[in-house]
Amino acid sequence: MAAIAAARAGAKVLCVERHPFPGGSSTAAMVHPWLSFHNKRGEQVLAGLGQELVDRLQVVGGALGHLRDSIGFVHSLTPFDPDLTKQVMLQMLVESGAQLLLHTFISGVEVEHGSVKAIRTVNKSGEQRIEARVFIDATGDADIAYRGGAPIQPNRKDGKLMTQPLTMNFRLSGVDWQPIRRFVIDNPDEFHHETLFEELKRGEELTAVSGYFSKWREVNEKLNVPRDRLLFFSGVRGDECYVNTSRVTQLDGADAFDLTQAEIEGRRQVTVIADWMHDHIDGFESSFISAIPTQIGVRETRRIEGDYNLNQDDVVCGAKFEDAIARSAYPVDIHAPSGSGLVTSEAPDDWYEIPFRCQLPRGLENLIVAGRCISATHEGHASTRLTPTCFAMGQAAGVAAAQSVQNRQQPRELDFQRLRQSLRGQGAIV
Ligand SMILES: Cc1cc2nc3c(=O)[nH]c(=O)nc-3n(C[C@H](O)[C@H](O)[C@H](O)COP(=O)(O)OP(=O)(O)OC[C@H]3O[C@@H](n4cnc5c(N)ncnc54)[C@H](O)[C@@H]3O)c2cc1C
Repeated sequence: MAAIAAARAGAKVLCVERHPFPGGSSTAAMVHPWLSFHNKRGEQVLAGLGQELVDRLQVVGGALGHLRDSIGFVHSLTPFDPDLTKQVMLQMLVESGAQLLLHTFISGVEVEHGSVKAIRTVNKSGEQRIEARVFIDATGDADIAYRGGAPIQPNRKDGKLMTQPLTMNFRLSGVDWQPIRRFVIDNPDEFHHETLFEELKRGEELTAVSGYFSKWREVNEKLNVPRDRLLFFSGVRGDECYVNTSRVTQLDGADAFDLTQAEIEGRRQVTVIADWMHDHIDGFESSFISAIPTQIGVRETRRIEGDYNLNQDDVVCGAKFEDAIARSAYPVDIHAPSGSGLVTSEAPDDWYEIPFRCQLPRGLENLIVAGRCISATHEGHASTRLTPTCFAMGQAAGVAAAQSVQNRQQPRELDFQRLRQSLRGQGAIV
């Protein structure tokens, strides 16, 4: 999103991506659905490039628009097809005029006088050195900021990792949603207490299921999956279901050795969960695994220390800021770093705002950070990390980078009101 926004704002852009396709966790890790473009009152709080992507996906059958979240945790969810998302995002990138360099890993950073002078990359062609006036770090793991020496917030306590667990999602096809729906309606105690039971009785679509508590409790130890419930979502096609239930704890998603172990364990869990659902849950008798993602999903690794650190109070109380570049109304949503539970907060009444300062790493001048690695506490991050919010932060980083280059100003020196105005011009809600 950052590359598209910067190119549309008139900048010369090179977008470096290690995978052979864009989309990050949405495509590579099949993290599904997008949560959430709306606040609890049903008002849309996120739009811009994220909304454009949804609209364009709908045209090609890759999305259904925004649907009610039948778990009742948030107002809306947005199912999408990961493969069609790769296609549409690639089209958006190419049309924007941004140059792409896929299959390329950012391996090093050169810093001079407190600014990033160049990044070093490695790929099949060898090693390269790439200079730019402004850099955007949208690596999720703050790879550029970290390698450039910017301070990173501590994420261990008493030797234990305090980051959220990793999860290998997967997609089942051949699912019959009718018996699932009947079971949810008939057994409310078995499901998340906010589930829209009354609406489901009146015919509301079943888009998400969180529970099967008793059945799952009987088996999760045997399957060795540290999770307290089954969680799955309907997809774009009527017989699909995206399962977000596996959980790998106490491994560092920014460490290749830990990631290797996590991939092995994540794939083991996919098989045992899919087999168990097939054999024990009504509606899954004819189900089969139709997709396992390229990589395990990584929720949380490095978070930068920026000019502002967004926290839980900001989220819950709906904090507003003069330099706001995005809104969100998603509550704090923490999958326990160790253990099987979930810790959540109230959502703000309207929305909270993310200040541009969260995207500015201390100690580096010409670097803007976007996505899940911005400056936020563990709790603040547990809300800002959601994909539509990351889309909006990417868009803001792109427009800010373009303005920095055009005005010959550092990102910190930008006129925030002009930045916000340009974002509104690109359809963002700020
Ligand atoms: C299991 C799981 C479940 C989730 N559930 C939901 C959900 O239901 N709904 C929701 O909206 N959000 C959900 N999230 C959160 C959301 O998916 C992510 O927080 C969000 O997508 C992060 O976006 P990002 O762009 O910051 O990072 P990423 O999506 O991680 O993208 C980073 C990009 O940078 C590339 N990259 C990284 N390092 C390098 C490098 N050194 N060189 C070159 N390229 C590099 C990667 O390949 C990738 O394309 C979930 C996350 C996980 C892991």
